[in-house]
Amino acid sequence: MIDLPLSPSPRMPLLFVGHGNPMNAITDNSFSREWRRIGKTLLAEGMPKPTAILSISAHWITPETTMVTAMPQPKTIHDFGGFPDELYAAQYPAPGAPEVAAETKKIVKRAPIALDHEWGLDHGTWSVLLPMFPNAAIPVYQLSIDYGRPAEFHFDIGRELRALRERGVLIMGSGNIVHNLRRVRFDGGPTYDWALEFDAIMAKAIESGDFKSAIEFQKLGELAKLAHPTYDHFLPLLYTLGAVHPDEHPEFFNADFDFGSASMRSVIYR
Ligand code: ZN
Repeated sequence: MIDLPLSPSPRMPLLFVGHGNPMNAITDNSFSREWRRIGKTLLAEGMPKPTAILSISAHWITPETTMVTAMPQPKTIHDFGGFPDELYAAQYPAPGAPEVAAETKKIVKRAPIALDHEWGLDHGTWSVLLPMFPNAAIPVYQLSIDYGRPAEFHFDIGRELRALRERGVLIMGSGNIVHNLRRVRFDGGPTYDWALEFDAIMAKAIESGDFKSAIEFQKLGELAKLAHPTYDHFLPLLYTLGAVHPDEHPEFFNADFDFGSASMRSVIYR
C-alpha cells in the first residue's frame, strides 16, 4: 500500500462511462436514467461516500504532458458546437479537490504530473455527473490524457491511481468503447457490424479480466480503426481497467448503441 496522507477509506467504486451525445446531460433517455439510478445507489444510506471524484475524460488531451486540475472551483466547460442554448446554460458547480490533486501528483511515478489551474470540467465529465450526482456536492477533479503515449502507459497510470480508491476517491473514465463520428447515423439506422464486433470483443476482455487484449486493441487492425478513427474515447477505458483490483468483477450498464457507431456500454466495479 502506498503511504498517502489522505485518510484511509473503504474501497470506492470504479467506473467507465460511455458518455456519447452531450445532450444526454439534460435529456431524459434510457442512458441518463441509468446514470441517475446508479448515482442514487452509490449515495444510498450505508454506502461509503466519496470525498472526491477523479474523472479521466476523452475531452482533455494534453500533448507531451499529463495534468491534474488543481483549482478550488473548476468552471463548467461547454466544449462542443451547434447545440441548443439550454445545454450551454447547464452548469456543474462542484468544488475542485486541490489537495487530492496534489496527492495524485505524488503517487503517479510513471510520468511527471503537472498541476493545472486553467481547465475545469469538460463535458466528458459534467454531462455524466449532472444526472448522476445532481447536487454537485462531491469535489471533482480531472486527469488529462497524453495522447501520443502507447496504450500501456495509460493502463499503467490507472494502476498507480488505484491506491486512491482506498483513500476516498471514486475514479471514473469517460469515453466510449466504440466511437466513430464519421459514421454517425442520424437517421436511426442499424448499428454497424464492426461496431457490434469491437464492442463484443471488449466486453469479453473486460468480463474475463483479460486487460491485455484491451491494451493491445490496435492488433485488431482495420476493426480497431473503424471503431476508433482516433483513440481519445477509448483511452479512458484503459485508465479504468488499470485501477481494477484482481478480486473485482465488472457489472455492465447502458450496453447499447447510439447513432449506429457509438457504444454506450459502461462498467462499474463495486
Ligand atoms: Zn465525447
